[in-house]
Amino acid sequence: MERLDKILASTGRWSRREVKELVRAGRVRACGALVKSPEEKYEREGLDLRVDGESVLAEKFTYLMLHKPAGLVSATEDPRQKTVLELLPEHLRKIGLFPAGRLDRDTEGLLLLTNDGALAHELLSPKNHVDKRYFVRVDGRLDGEDVRAFEEGMTLPDGLRCLPAGLELLECPAGDEALVTLREGKYHQIKRMLSARGKNVTYLKRLAMGPLALDPGLGKGEWRPLTADETEGLR
Ligand code: URA
Repeated sequence: MERLDKILASTGRWSRREVKELVRAGRVRACGALVKSPEEKYEREGLDLRVDGESVLAEKFTYLMLHKPAGLVSATEDPRQKTVLELLPEHLRKIGLFPAGRLDRDTEGLLLLTNDGALAHELLSPKNHVDKRYFVRVDGRLDGEDVRAFEEGMTLPDGLRCLPAGLELLECPAGDEALVTLREGKYHQIKRMLSARGKNVTYLKRLAMGPLALDPGLGKGEWRPLTADETEGLR
């Protein structure tokens, strides 16, 4: 048995304080009955919990979209450095969320946090080839030769063979910006591919993973739960 405020807050949609307000306003029903206190306890399994008539436990797991800022590590814990989990409120740090796919400490952008291990595995499995899309800026001028090298599939100086990847040059005076599309996610992959082309990455931001795009309304360090459509799109 779990407290109602804990169950509702674990969806990522409301804080415990907000749950209190919802209950006070008579907007929460459990198996048809009006919930009178956020402290009431329920068995989560099979619970028909509704807010304003909308079923809110359709998902067994939690899925959050985070706009990762630079300076944090994509891990659940780290002895020395601040992790992305530390951006979440206390109650969401205790439900087994982890980043589905890593971004480097200095990379920004879309990070999916979930406790659905099976979905994360599917998304990250190389055989599923889920496209990851990035905005990149380098300290040189990108050209057609770089585009061709990416398209052909590069073999890096250390022997790593990369699948064909997309490099779409963006129009800008310095010619130093592009969109990169990867079908895999090897360690420091974009930095290593561009370094092999003689260019260093000065800024990197993930924009999308498959159909899931970073919400432009989310500032750095902000997060929100995925919508039902977004979650469905990942399956
Ligand atoms: N490629 C990189 O080099 N770094 C990232 O964080 C993601 C892709």
